[in-house]
Amino acid sequence: MRKIIRKEPKKKIDDPYLLPKSLPDPTICPSCNLLYHDKRWIRNDELANMLNLIAYKYKCPSCRKIEDHYVMGIVNISGNFYITHKEDIINLIKNTEKREILRNPLDRIMSLKNVENMVVVETTSENLAIAIGKALKRAYKGNLEIKFSSNNKFVRVNWQRD
Ligand SMILES: [Zn+2]
Repeated sequence: MRKIIRKEPKKKIDDPYLLPKSLPDPTICPSCNLLYHDKRWIRNDELANMLNLIAYKYKCPSCRKIEDHYVMGIVNISGNFYITHKEDIINLIKNTEKREILRNPLDRIMSLKNVENMVVVETTSENLAIAIGKALKRAYKGNLEIKFSSNNKFVRVNWQRD
């Protein structure tokens, strides 16, 4: 029997903020207290506080993106359904961030704005924007569209339900 393995090519977005690749270990982000250890950023406040005096200080990619307003994901939420379910939808967005941040502490909401009868969410990572779109689709059906920019700089997620 032939097995067909369909591999969806995983889109990778260029993230200039992941540079420099090598930071001293340990490094602590002076803005959000994330700890850089074993080549990744982790949330461990207890350990970060213990290492604070000896750790190198350098802002994590997320804090630098927020400072520069370097958006990697945009979620547009529109349609009549949103108007009548604002609170539930906003909660779903915030809960998705809470869940994703446990997996990757660099996945954060940069801003959440009500623009007329739409909500626009900006995120520090493409993953979080996609996760929000998929959570909306799972919870409320509707139309989900995920578009990567041609230069691979960011992802635009549109969710709409009337
Ligand atoms: Zn930080």
